[in-house]
Amino acid sequence: MTSTSTSSAYRLPDAPLSGASQPGQEHAFAHQLLEMLVIPAFVLDARCRVMVWNKACARLTGVPAYEVLGTSEHWRSFYDSPRATLADLVIQDRTDEIDQLYPDQPARYQASGMLCAQNWCDMPRAGRRRFLVADASPIFDAAGKLIAVVETLRDLTDEKTAQLALEQLATRDGLTGLANRRCFDDTLQAEWMRALRQQQPLSLLMVDVDNFKAYNDAHGHLGGDECLKRIALAVAGEMRANDLVARYGGEEFAVILPNESLKGAAIVAERIRARVEQLQLPGRRAGCQHVTVSIGAATALPAPNTESSVLVATADAALYRAKHMGRNRISLPLAEQA
Ligand code: GH3
Ligand code: MG
Ligand code: MG
Repeated sequence: MTSTSTSSAYRLPDAPLSGASQPGQEHAFAHQLLEMLVIPAFVLDARCRVMVWNKACARLTGVPAYEVLGTSEHWRSFYDSPRATLADLVIQDRTDEIDQLYPDQPARYQASGMLCAQNWCDMPRAGRRRFLVADASPIFDAAGKLIAVVETLRDLTDEKTAQLALEQLATRDGLTGLANRRCFDDTLQAEWMRALRQQQPLSLLMVDVDNFKAYNDAHGHLGGDECLKRIALAVAGEMRANDLVARYGGEEFAVILPNESLKGAAIVAERIRARVEQLQLPGRRAGCQHVTVSIGAATALPAPNTESSVLVATADAALYRAKHMGRNRISLPLAEQA
């Protein structure tokens, strides 16, 4: 183990924490208190140099106090590339950058001038990313001049990980990793309202695997599951950034295409159909035929007092016709085909 000279050996460069002229006992006591605190904390002086780096902070970061005291290299304990900590932003009066640097959740300001923000930190020396909540409190001298900022840290990695897992469970389909039905319903409703506001078209594709019951019979349910995963990947591979592909149910997928005309939707549908066919997944009987999908498309320019379910019904009807016409094809709404 490396020898650790503690931060109490470090002499404060400019002003004592107490603000008084005697840096003696009172200061030493305050310093020791910070040192022994079980909450990770560090203190920067007015020039962003580390004055205190307590033991808990050393444990959290894997960086001993003697490496950072008197330097402005503390950011290296948290991040892979240079960036300010919350304490730096407070000292340098750069609080307008906080939302950009902590995008997860807006920073909270408190009456005492204390700031709270949270984000994922790389923690290069600790070797594991951690989700840290930071509180930065400015310290002023008797004349009201900022002389230091103390930043305390809380490690909420476990809580954040659990929250993300819950969100994932609530919105993702377990088998394919695509958006689930609930996420589809919410997104379709939101996109419908947006299309109404912006008077832009909204398109929907319903994609159904052909003869999948027979596929299951031939390859077993687990083989069927694998097939669904491969198809899900293929469909997702055709999406643009703002599109959403979801598992609508069983062997059926739904694709929301914002700002897309029916013509554009038909092109995407045909690309999906061809891509699935090109996967050359063995069909119902080995060597007999490849797995294919049928796709129904629909487009609407939403009007006031209309509902997004119209779009689903129209795409469904088109899908039904694609099945009826022999499968492995795309179909558009009747009016558009005439
Ligand atoms: P069509 O071409 O008319 O769509 O015929 P189909 O056989 O695909 O349609 P049908 O609705 O009769 O059968 C769908 C099958 O999909 C039945 C069901 O067992 C299977 N299925 C639904 N969900 C899953 C799943 O999660 N895994 C597997 N392996 N099969 C599933
Ligand atoms: Mg089917
Ligand atoms: Mg089906």
